Amino acid sequence: MANKYVYLFGTRKSEGDKEMRNLLGGKGANLAEMARLGLPVPAGFTLTTEVCTHYYDNKKTYPRELSAQVDKAIGEVEKKMGAKFGDPKNPLLLSVRSGARVSMPGMMETVLNLGLNDEIVAGLIKKSGDERFCYDVYRRFVQMYGDVVMGLRPKDKEIDPFEHLLEKKKEKHGVEIDSDLPATALKELVAEFKTVIKKRLKRSFPEDPKEQLYGSIGAVFSSWQGDRAIRYREIESIPHNWGTAVNVQSMVYGNMGENCATGVAFTRDPSTGQNKLYGEFLVNAQGEDVVAGIRTPEPIIKMKRILPKAYADFVKVCGQLEKHYKDMQDMEFTIQQSRLWMLQTRSGKRTAAAAVKIAVDMASERLITRKEAIQRVNPSDLDQLLHPTFDAPASPGAASGKVVFSAEEAEAQAAKGEPVILVRIETSPEDIGGMHAAQGILTARGGMTSHAAVVARGMGKCCVAGCGDVVIDYDKNMFKAGSKTVKKGDWISIDGSSGEVMLGQTPTKEAKFSKEFGTLMKWADQTRKLKVRTNADTPHDSDVARRFGAEGIGLCRTEHMFFEGDRILAVREMILADDEKGRKKALAKLKPIQRKDFEGIFKAMDGLPVTIRLLDPPLHEFVPHEAAQQKEMAKQLKLPVAVIKAKVNALHEFNPMLGHRGCRLGITYPEIYQMQVEAIFEASINARKKKIKALPEIMIPLVGTTRELEDLKAMIDRVAKEISAKKKTKLSYQVGTMIEIPRAALIADQIAESAQFFSFGTNDLTQLTFGYSRDDSGTFLPEYVDKGILAEDPFQSLDQEGVGQLVRLGTERGRSTRKNLKVGICGEHGGDPASVHFCHQVGLNYVSCSPYRVPIARLAAAQAALVK
Ligand code: ADP
Ligand code: MG
Ligand code: MG
Repeated sequence: MANKYVYLFGTRKSEGDKEMRNLLGGKGANLAEMARLGLPVPAGFTLTTEVCTHYYDNKKTYPRELSAQVDKAIGEVEKKMGAKFGDPKNPLLLSVRSGARVSMPGMMETVLNLGLNDEIVAGLIKKSGDERFCYDVYRRFVQMYGDVVMGLRPKDKEIDPFEHLLEKKKEKHGVEIDSDLPATALKELVAEFKTVIKKRLKRSFPEDPKEQLYGSIGAVFSSWQGDRAIRYREIESIPHNWGTAVNVQSMVYGNMGENCATGVAFTRDPSTGQNKLYGEFLVNAQGEDVVAGIRTPEPIIKMKRILPKAYADFVKVCGQLEKHYKDMQDMEFTIQQSRLWMLQTRSGKRTAAAAVKIAVDMASERLITRKEAIQRVNPSDLDQLLHPTFDAPASPGAASGKVVFSAEEAEAQAAKGEPVILVRIETSPEDIGGMHAAQGILTARGGMTSHAAVVARGMGKCCVAGCGDVVIDYDKNMFKAGSKTVKKGDWISIDGSSGEVMLGQTPTKEAKFSKEFGTLMKWADQTRKLKVRTNADTPHDSDVARRFGAEGIGLCRTEHMFFEGDRILAVREMILADDEKGRKKALAKLKPIQRKDFEGIFKAMDGLPVTIRLLDPPLHEFVPHEAAQQKEMAKQLKLPVAVIKAKVNALHEFNPMLGHRGCRLGITYPEIYQMQVEAIFEASINARKKKIKALPEIMIPLVGTTRELEDLKAMIDRVAKEISAKKKTKLSYQVGTMIEIPRAALIADQIAESAQFFSFGTNDLTQLTFGYSRDDSGTFLPEYVDKGILAEDPFQSLDQEGVGQLVRLGTERGRSTRKNLKVGICGEHGGDPASVHFCHQVGLNYVSCSPYRVPIARLAAAQAALVK
């Protein structure tokens, strides 16, 4: 059998339907489906995407069978419409429309009113009895064909030659809009258009309808490779080899008079989700007029009064379509002499807020199930709903404040109640306090996974990282962006989602959760198997996370507590001490502060588990590297600068990430970990006195051998015993480890003998498995992703193929020696939906992510549980 390249819109089995979007494109498949449902669709047919691929594979020629199949299909359309293509006595006019698998709005071409020449227009006048209308259609056709098919387009800055002639004509007749031009004027325009085509292109406008048809089909196929379409596919990751289908459809006319119209509408409000018809229309107009912006369309509700019958029909069709597609629809329609025609339908794009409301409403209306509702919302999109927003529509995650250039300044200003934006060339862990205090952070260097961006995301702070246009001069306390200069204290506003930096102040408001958001989250919680915890180091972050539904803390990084306020002094004193005695003296100052921190966190997480990681980073991160700050530190500690310099030099490491850090610190300076453990136990006893239930889980970082864990666990148990005896009370706690060194994953069975829980530290595990230093990966990773060497940045989405194997294997081996081993992950990946899916599959107990990602992880975990 010959290949089938042409499908009619119709009710027969052999014709198309909505499942055939790969072959017929989205528009064609849905037109066929609407015809199948018996909705009013102008007769027509689709040339498949295979014709397009054939066209490009064969030097822009068509398959041999095509022409006969097109002739036959036109015959069918003629029968249905009672008119003939190219017949002057009873002409049929057609539209030729693009339509890819996924909609590429406005990226490809459409030709309307095709099949006209001077002889045929005369016949059309006789048939319709409306000369003005016929010349309006003819004028539109020549203009569109000249532009789209023949390529007569204005060059830079030049005015469109057709629009120029049209304007002149309107001026001459003293009318504002083209529908007021008389028939004679339109007739003259047709001739003038043809002349300008001939003059500029040295080719004549084709009078033969068949030639017009194939010219238009070729133009649509060619538009698949137009600059616009290519760029759009690049941005949206649409494969270039899909090709577009072509829809040929008989014309219906919204421009036949005051009882005609054309419009676009959504079955629900795409920005709020409200269940209310939303759209626009224009009386006496054709499709392209709505977008052209010459006339302002009217809100759809006005149609109820102007064209009541058609409006009622349309509302009915909207209901039918929603019921059938079980989703909000985006539709195009035309009304010809009070009669409704449907020209397109598709699932409508919507904001995150609308997606949530529509999903929950549709489940309540029993249009979809709760499970389907959970699957309707893209977890990552929830991000839009969780951060403070500019007090204007559609700008999530934004902040305004006065510019400061140092972390100390940020803290000082914030303490006075001033909102500030911290502007840095790049940020380091030392800046953490300032970042916390600031409303937002702007950096000149770094990217999505840069320290600033990661930390900011964790705090729910707005951050624009790696803004290359910003040139900062710390000495002069100013930065330049293009021709603008911004000084310390000036107001700026930054938008973390778009990366925009604006001068001045834009008011923001806290994100408010809708009722529907709460409902969807409740359904998600009832569905998911994975628990969701949070990474939080302060009572404030813990509170936020709990409000977002966190079921405990999966990672409390104790080093962040070391930086705040005056504590850094005690930390530095400890580092500078020559011996254990000196270190212990300094640690004694730190202990009550840590204890207080833990008490605050236990209070916020009352009754929920709190995983506390003992000190992890290399000590050099706590000492200043710049001369000025070293001098300051010397003054504070009453020591010679040379001593400070010598210590800083001694702490220098070639690969600090692989150096003296994690449990290696605990092994070599046991007094540090011991102080932290005492603070944890004392805090949990104090909490109990206040009727707060503390459930500490002490986590040892960077374990690679069994002895590291055994020795440190023995120390922890000993401290627990001593404190228990001294305070005459029992202590409940667990001791576990991070699995972040590949070796630890490999010997997980042995490690699990002394670990009560595992937490995969997937940041370090990724770093060590790939051998990529995360902080240095900015120089090559983006290019790796661009070139497709890596599908994604493995620090953003867990590399399931490689790193994932270690997670799977580590979990299996660990549980082989300790059956009820609790396993979670706590890297950046804990809030990434694809990684959450993976964690569910592997059978982890929980994921832990930054507070603002908790709802995203809850929804993603529910979706993972629904995959069969
Ligand atoms: P796009 O994909 O850019 O939206 P379409 O193929 O949908 O392009 O065509 C644009 C507009 O042209 C439609 O919204 C409609 O108003 C008009 N149109 C297309 N086909 C017809 C037709 N057969 N009769 C009347 N108007 C049509
Ligand atoms: Mg359209
Ligand atoms: Mg780590």
